[in-house]
Amino acid sequence: MSTPYAYFHKQIVPLSEAKIGIMTHAFNYGTGVFEGIRGNWNADDNTIYLFKVEEHLKRLRQSARICRIEISETDAQLSELIKQVVGKSEIREDQYVRPLAYKSSEVLGVRVHDLEDDLLIFVAPFGPYLDIDAGARVQTSSWRRVEDTSIPARAKNTGIYINSALAKTEAILNGFDEAIMLNADGHVSEGSGENVVIVRDGRLITPQRSDNVLEGITLDTVLFLARSELGLDVVERTIDRSELYVADEFFLTGTAAHVTPVLEVDRRPVGNGAIGAITKQLQKRYFDIIYGRVDKYAHWCTPVPLRQAVRQA
Ligand code: PMP
Repeated sequence: MSTPYAYFHKQIVPLSEAKIGIMTHAFNYGTGVFEGIRGNWNADDNTIYLFKVEEHLKRLRQSARICRIEISETDAQLSELIKQVVGKSEIREDQYVRPLAYKSSEVLGVRVHDLEDDLLIFVAPFGPYLDIDAGARVQTSSWRRVEDTSIPARAKNTGIYINSALAKTEAILNGFDEAIMLNADGHVSEGSGENVVIVRDGRLITPQRSDNVLEGITLDTVLFLARSELGLDVVERTIDRSELYVADEFFLTGTAAHVTPVLEVDRRPVGNGAIGAITKQLQKRYFDIIYGRVDKYAHWCTPVPLRQAVRQA
């Protein structure tokens, strides 16, 4: 059995000892920013490959800047701490690393200035989020994606996730797997925790960044692969809801969801109802890469070798 560890109050401690007080500002008002980093377990190498740590730390800092949260650790220190938490926890399966910077003062009053900040890191086992083989059935949500004029959509802020949670629960309770949110203008924004990509006539289309999307790291990866390896055109522009209905292919990207094909939207089959050829190729390449199996992209993966497991007699 592995014992999960966390970085908390500037120390690495067993996860069970990392507790916050009930008056913590971030808990009461959603004043935190976070990242989700995949740790992909490769049993052949006895190694966990952390995907794009640098990019996630960059986005964490951008979120913190938007929300006025100070991070005292450097990127080099943070990546070292992440490696230590993951290495010590020895979780021999796919996992999720969560750095979270937050307003840690135990005080009442809504604001983001004049408060103490802290940062924690934990890791948890985390398998597939959506069915990457069978594909997802999605629904256009009755919840609109928050506008940047209300809560900055490109900041991965803890409080913003009530928006995603309401949409996800509505979709699940209605018998779907995932929600697709429109923005206030009625254009496609994103899934509850994924970016949206459609394929039309061999060209990839994804909503532009100003449509209130989180600037996805998986999206960037997949669009890069589409351009550089498949030689495909990629366009970032406004997408209408009805355009989802006539797409040849449709897939979602996210740290949790990886590359998940969408096979049905609002009870209409996508394309011919099977996983599309482009989606399949991108999915395969992406999975080879994130488990550290492609030398060319080894620089995207931070290896954390685990001790050899002690075999039970
Ligand atoms: N949008 C939202 C709302 C998300 O929570 C996520 C997951 N972080 C994404 C998009 C996808 O981003 P990434 O590929 O960086 O995980």
